[in-house]
Amino acid sequence: MGRLYDMIVIGGGPGGCTAALYAARAGLSVLLLEGGVPGGQMALTGRIDNYPGFPGGIAGFDLAQRMVQQIEEAGAKVLPCQALSLELSANPKAVTTLEGIFRARTLVYAAGAEPRHLGLAGEDTFTGRGVHYCAQCDGMFYRGKTVVVVGGGNTAVSDALLLHRVAKQVHLVHRRDTLRASQVSFGPLLEAENVSFHWNSTPTRLLGGEALTGVILTDTVTGAETELRCDGMFVSIGRTPATELVGSQLSLDQSGYIIAGESTKTAIAGVFAVGDVRTKSLRQIVTALSDGATAASRAEEYLNRNQ
Ligand code: NAP
Repeated sequence: MGRLYDMIVIGGGPGGCTAALYAARAGLSVLLLEGGVPGGQMALTGRIDNYPGFPGGIAGFDLAQRMVQQIEEAGAKVLPCQALSLELSANPKAVTTLEGIFRARTLVYAAGAEPRHLGLAGEDTFTGRGVHYCAQCDGMFYRGKTVVVVGGGNTAVSDALLLHRVAKQVHLVHRRDTLRASQVSFGPLLEAENVSFHWNSTPTRLLGGEALTGVILTDTVTGAETELRCDGMFVSIGRTPATELVGSQLSLDQSGYIIAGESTKTAIAGVFAVGDVRTKSLRQIVTALSDGATAASRAEEYLNRNQ
């Protein structure tokens, strides 16, 4: 058997990086495995304006690089490789990868969640240039402008609520004629003067050159098409949590997130769920950081109790 680590972290987004940082600084031996871009969703974000300490914003990729550099300086080992399977109930816990099997006494699962895409032609090209997936992150770019919000769940409603305070006009586009969101949440939207509803509608084409200038909406009942001019579109149709490795071992909620409270503890002792992949009300960099610090502290307690 190879080296036994105190902690293996799966996922190098802000939550995973913070767990590794705090654990390494507490003297634990830490291995962080990241199968994609270090920094996760954060690294794919052009500019981050809501991370404290960086007036004028910081490129997501740069922030991710700094986090990875910092955890390596703290003594954690960062390995760019994909976890293929996990044995969470084993003692020690085992992670199988193409680079071999790694073992640790605790495991922090921080694999994140990906925003769902509409799957339209040009959607990727327009991402960051009119198409967005996080109103809290990018809504401020649309002060005084016209935006479309797609979706009918609680995320779409809270995004529309945020945007109607910033933008000149908000168009909420939903594929059915009733919202999935709770009534109490969308009441204020119905009263807002700058919000219009497009029921039984879905965007089917994106318009523009360098940046988005509009969308074609298709009526889901009649098939009729209309053009809607806009400066930005927020796709708020939910997220897909990366739980395929743990789904059969940990309990998931109805939306597929790992059930874990603020302690980040899961139902399996020594296994912690951190960041966007766990049940939580606000999925942001700062809330993932908080989870990471909490998980490291709880892992330390666990290791002290289980010498
Ligand atoms: P959600 O509840 O799954 O809603 C997704 C919405 O997007 C639905 O209205 C769905 O339409 C629509 N949709 C899905 N795929 C689509 C597509 N391809 N094209 C067009 N529309 C599409 O997701 P969510 O709003 O992100 O919420 C996720 C969970 O977090 C929910 O449990 C929610 O209650 C919770 N949440 C809570 C709060 C809060 O403040 N309490 C805030 C945000 C989220 P249909 O309705 O037709 O299926």
